[in-house]
Amino acid sequence: MTPDDRLFQQEFLPLFRQLIRNACVNTGDPDSGHEDKSVATLKDYFAGRGLDCQVYHARPGRGSLMVRVKGTDPMAPSLMFMGHLDVVPAQAADWSVDPFSAELQDGQIWGRGAVDMLCWTAAQAVGFAEAVSRVPGGRFPGDLAFLALADEEASGRWGAQYLTEHYWDEVKTDFMVTELGGFFIDTDQGPAAFCTVGEKGVAWVKLTARGTPGHGSMPYGADNAAPKAAEAVRRLGRLRMPLKTSPAYKAMAGAMARGPWERLALTTGWGEGWALKRLFRRNPGMARFLHTAGRTTVSPNVVRSGEKVNIVADRAELLVDCRVLPGTTKADLEAAVRRALGPRLSHQFKFEISDWFPANLSAKDNPLYPAMEKLFLGAHPDSRLVDLVIGGVTDGRFWRAQGTTVYGFSLFSKALTMDAYGQRIHGVDERIDLESLALGVGFFRELPATFWK
Ligand SMILES: [Zn+2]
Repeated sequence: MTPDDRLFQQEFLPLFRQLIRNACVNTGDPDSGHEDKSVATLKDYFAGRGLDCQVYHARPGRGSLMVRVKGTDPMAPSLMFMGHLDVVPAQAADWSVDPFSAELQDGQIWGRGAVDMLCWTAAQAVGFAEAVSRVPGGRFPGDLAFLALADEEASGRWGAQYLTEHYWDEVKTDFMVTELGGFFIDTDQGPAAFCTVGEKGVAWVKLTARGTPGHGSMPYGADNAAPKAAEAVRRLGRLRMPLKTSPAYKAMAGAMARGPWERLALTTGWGEGWALKRLFRRNPGMARFLHTAGRTTVSPNVVRSGEKVNIVADRAELLVDCRVLPGTTKADLEAAVRRALGPRLSHQFKFEISDWFPANLSAKDNPLYPAMEKLFLGAHPDSRLVDLVIGGVTDGRFWRAQGTTVYGFSLFSKALTMDAYGQRIHGVDERIDLESLALGVGFFRELPATFWK
């Protein structure tokens, strides 16, 4: 499909721009987001296509919308396109354009949500409606569903988590395509685009140490919790967990490396430190993606201790953001953290995990992956697809955890590189080129027929 196509000009562009203009800004406050604005926009769009929607509310104003077209064969696998409606805040003063005007400038649409992820949500909606209108009888063998969620940018509590906990029978599906992926990198073997096949697990750790309160004017021999926290931060800040290679990690490393030595070092771990530094100098974003994909990471980010300047601190607390590889248990993580602290210091700290979501990974031996690859190669015959495991999380994790095969992918133009994507997502002057948008609509329009062929 091209940007001149009728479907693109008359259906996709107005819908996409309206979703940006609705400004469903999620600040993390439960009463922000206001996704109902975009739920209404989508409901109107689908009504015009003769399709009925189901709307769910975990909280007033925070709607999520689903359209499901039942399949003809109860044994056939089901497929869902899933997007989110909310966006992160934008400081208008920093932008070259109004972040919520959805302006078309230099062949690009500018606005908050342009790449994360209203371009997908709109392309999925239009692709879905068009695919259903084209298939004989209006039904595919399996169920085809479209789901647009509230609250992805906070935690999914008022969207994905709520729906998967309370309405699993309605929102479950065998296969799902969602964010994030499709962006390009240049490799020494030609261009490649990423397809997200998995996400690391989240473990937010709280470490608490005790001290004994006393007068701050007489610190000699005091049992002060603050220096314990400082030492713990120093040790955790230096902690480097060992590289664990998986097939997905090796695919990423192989694509990002330049030349045989760097490739050998990054894929095997022999000389990884040297190769990672070289990669970092060339492309810091890529090096960070690769580093986190290969190991459990530990980032001590919040330190609190003491009450008052003249009282010896009787308590200190560290909040540590840990992202774990598949197969890592809570006990494995605690053991690694305690080892890093050392026996004497470790003894001083209580270890708790406040938030835990296990790592999740989708296999590729199924009909969806080759269907996506076929459409990708149709648009970019000189390129290849490479697996990506991300350190962050998307709403897809709630489905992967229940056994759904989930990929983060859409078709983009080569202008949407990993660097461009990395700078624009949650960044200033978020924007996307028209060719990428047209490719995305075509991708979601063609995917169902290719999948159930
Ligand atoms: Zn997103």
